[in-house]
Amino acid sequence: MAIISSKQQAQEPVGQPKQRRELSGSRKSPKAPATEELLQPQPAQDEQGKQEESIRPRAFADYIGQKDLKDVLDIAIKAALARGETLDHLLLYGPPGLGKTTMALILASEMRVDCKITSAPALERPRDIVGLLVSLKPGDILFIDEIHRLSRMTEEILYPAMEDYRLDITIGKGSSAKTRSVPLPRFTLVGATTRMGALTSPLRDRFGLIQRLRFYEPDELSQIVLRTAQILQTPLTEDGALELARRARGTPRIANRLLKRVRDYAQVKAPETSITQEVAAQALELFQVDPCGLDWTDRRMLSVMIEQFNGGPVGLETMAASTGEDTQTIEEVYEPYLMQIGYLHRTPRGRIATPSAYKHLGFTLPNEQLSLLP
Ligand code: ADP
Repeated sequence: MAIISSKQQAQEPVGQPKQRRELSGSRKSPKAPATEELLQPQPAQDEQGKQEESIRPRAFADYIGQKDLKDVLDIAIKAALARGETLDHLLLYGPPGLGKTTMALILASEMRVDCKITSAPALERPRDIVGLLVSLKPGDILFIDEIHRLSRMTEEILYPAMEDYRLDITIGKGSSAKTRSVPLPRFTLVGATTRMGALTSPLRDRFGLIQRLRFYEPDELSQIVLRTAQILQTPLTEDGALELARRARGTPRIANRLLKRVRDYAQVKAPETSITQEVAAQALELFQVDPCGLDWTDRRMLSVMIEQFNGGPVGLETMAASTGEDTQTIEEVYEPYLMQIGYLHRTPRGRIATPSAYKHLGFTLPNEQLSLLP
C-alpha cells in the first residue's frame, strides 16, 4: 500500500499516482494540442519527485491565500492542542491543484504528528483500509484523496473508525460469522474531494469540519510563484510573477508549472535577465498559454456555444460531445474556472456564454443574448 509519512516524506502522495486527466478517460479529443497539458490541474508524471516536495509549503505561514480556511483551521489546531485532543475529522473540497494535500501535511506538522497519505482508488480491498487504520499512532492524520471514490465496504469500515475509533472485523461467513471490535487510537481523517455532491451522506456527516478551497486571486498566485522562484533560485520580477499568475487558472499547481517552463525559456533566450513581464509573456505566447489561462477545451466549449448555439443555453451533454471530454470533467475542471472568471453562467436551461467570453474570443454579442443573462 502506498503511504507516506509527513515526517519522512520526500515524495508526492501516494497510492496509485493521480492520473493525469483521469476523469476524461479515453474520450480525449485528438484535436487538442499538446500545449494544453501545461494547464491541467492534475499533477504531471514528472511532478511527483523531490523537487515538487521542495516547493510544497510546510507551514501555515507559507501557505498563501485561502484565508477563511486558514482562520478556521488555526482555531481548530489551537483548541485541539490546548485540550490535548486530536483534530476533528476534516473534509476539504474544491478543484484539483488548490492545496488540499498540502494543507493536510501542514496540519500534521502543526499538530506534530505523522500524516499518512492515500487515495480512495488505492483502498480497493477491505484489508487496505484495515492495514492503514491499525498502523496509525495516536493523533496521526490519515489523508484520503478522492474520498468520493471509496468502495462501499471501505466506507463501512470507516464509519465506526471515525465515530468511535473502533474497527469492526467480521470473522467467518454466514450464520457462523462473528464480529470482533478492535480499538483504534484517536486519529484525524482528512478527506479530499473534487466532488462534494458525490459523497454519501453518512460519510459526509461524520466530518466535524467541512471546508471549501477556492480558486486563488492573481495577487495570491503571484506570491506563490515568487516564493517558488526563490526556492528554485530563479530571478523573477513582480510583474513577471503577475503575468504567470494571470494565466494559471487560479491554481497553484499550474502557476508553479508555468514558472518552470518559463524558467527554461528564459535560460535559453534571456539568460542575463530576470524573468520580467515581457519575458514571461513571450514564453507563454510560445507555449500557447492564453492570457486568461484558457486552454483548447475551454475555448472550444465557448466557441461552440457562441457559433453553433448563439451563446446558449447549451446542455452539458452537448458541450461534452463537442469537446470529447466527459461531462464529469467539464463540470469539475472546466466549468468552475470559466464561472470564476465570469465567462460562463449555469442556468436551469443550460450553460450560457457571457459577454466577457464573446469579447475574449473576438465575437460580437447579439442583443438577444443579453436578455438571457441573470
Ligand atoms: P491538491 O491536493 O488540492 O490537488 P496540492 O496540495 O497537491 O493540491 O497542491 C499542488 C501544489 O501547489 C503543491 O505542490 C504546492 O506546491 C502548491 N500549493 C498549493 N497550495 C498552495 C498555497 N496555498 N501556497 C503555496 N503553494 C501552494
